[in-house]
Amino acid sequence: MNLDTGKLRALTLDLDDTLWPIWPTIARAESALQAWLQRHAPRVTERFDLAAMRADREAVARERPDWAHDLSALRRESIRRLLVAAGETEALLDAAFSVFLAERQCVDLYADSLPALQRLAARWPLFALSNGNADLVRIGLQPWFRGSLAAREFGVGKPDPRIFAAACERLGCAPNEVLHVGDDLRLDVHGALDAGMQAAWVRRDGEGREDDVIGAGVRCWQGPDLLALADRLGV
Ligand SMILES: [Mg+2]
Repeated sequence: MNLDTGKLRALTLDLDDTLWPIWPTIARAESALQAWLQRHAPRVTERFDLAAMRADREAVARERPDWAHDLSALRRESIRRLLVAAGETEALLDAAFSVFLAERQCVDLYADSLPALQRLAARWPLFALSNGNADLVRIGLQPWFRGSLAAREFGVGKPDPRIFAAACERLGCAPNEVLHVGDDLRLDVHGALDAGMQAAWVRRDGEGREDDVIGAGVRCWQGPDLLALADRLGV
């Protein structure tokens, strides 16, 4: 399991798919956006159904790899061009995006998330490190976190080692004193290990096994949820 718990001074945590499932949240946010557009910009929904709107959002992501770290910019651009394509006014963009973003904060936490955050936060400062546009204040989780850094504000996202280094710096810790916790092998685990941090891979797919070898001899803790991690860390 390769954790040096004696050294630990802080934890960084991924948010989407680590503390809550992201796709049900996005699906609800897209439905809320569609319902709003139906009322305020009906030509958009006459021309584009939910699948077409999602396809456009994915097309924007392919066309703007330079915005990969800024999901809000991608979403806004997709809404903007749907409005224009349907002959509605771009002036509706801010209002439409705020409907999407508000619903995007209505997440359903995994059952283990809150009790685990309570246990972990009682022992170490927690710091959120996300490539997404979750808002801890609106979600109500801010009390558990010392701070947060999003790819969108920093300018590059995980797995770039610079964003991990910036998080460690803000925590006042050396990288190997910080454990990064996340669900994504490439973005979270390899990103953190490449930045010299410790890593915990939360695998909610039921495949969680401790002590697996990852890649060329790279090892990290793996487990099925955050309570298993709290148990492992002895808090
Ligand atoms: Mg994630």
